[in-house]
Amino acid sequence: MNLSNFFSATESCPPCQQLNFRYKPSSGGNALIRPGAHLLLHFIIPGIAAGLSFRDRWKSAWIIMTLTIVVDLDHLIANPIYDPNRCSIGFHPLHTYPAIFIYMILAMMNKTRLIGLGLLIHVALDGFDCIWMFL
Ligand SMILES: [Zn+2]
Repeated sequence: MNLSNFFSATESCPPCQQLNFRYKPSSGGNALIRPGAHLLLHFIIPGIAAGLSFRDRWKSAWIIMTLTIVVDLDHLIANPIYDPNRCSIGFHPLHTYPAIFIYMILAMMNKTRLIGLGLLIHVALDGFDCIWMFL
C-alpha cells in the first residue's frame, strides 16, 4: 500500500477534507475488478460466515445477512449516488462509526444477531474496499 497516495488523495480534494473522508481522485489499476469483486464479496462472505457459524440454518442465516446490503440505500442521498473511488466508511450516514457501534450492539443480542453480524460484515468489506482502493 502506498501511504503517500493515501494521504495526498485527501489533500488534493478540499471538499473531502471538509467532509473528513478519503477519496481517490483518479482510478487506479484495480478500478476495473475492484467494484465487481467487492459486490461479489457482499454475497460470498455472509455465505461463508453462515456456513461456519450457523450450520443448522445456514440458508436463512445467509439470506438475512445478505439482505443487510439494504444499508447501502444511504447512498441515495449522496451525490453521485455511486462513486467507485469514494470510501463509504465515515461518509454515508449508515456507514459512520456511531452506526457501526449500533450494529455491534445488534450483533450481541440474540434476536438481532444475524442482522448485526450482516451489517458488521458489510462495513468490514466496505472498509477493506477503502484500503484496496489505495493499493
Ligand atoms: Zn456499503
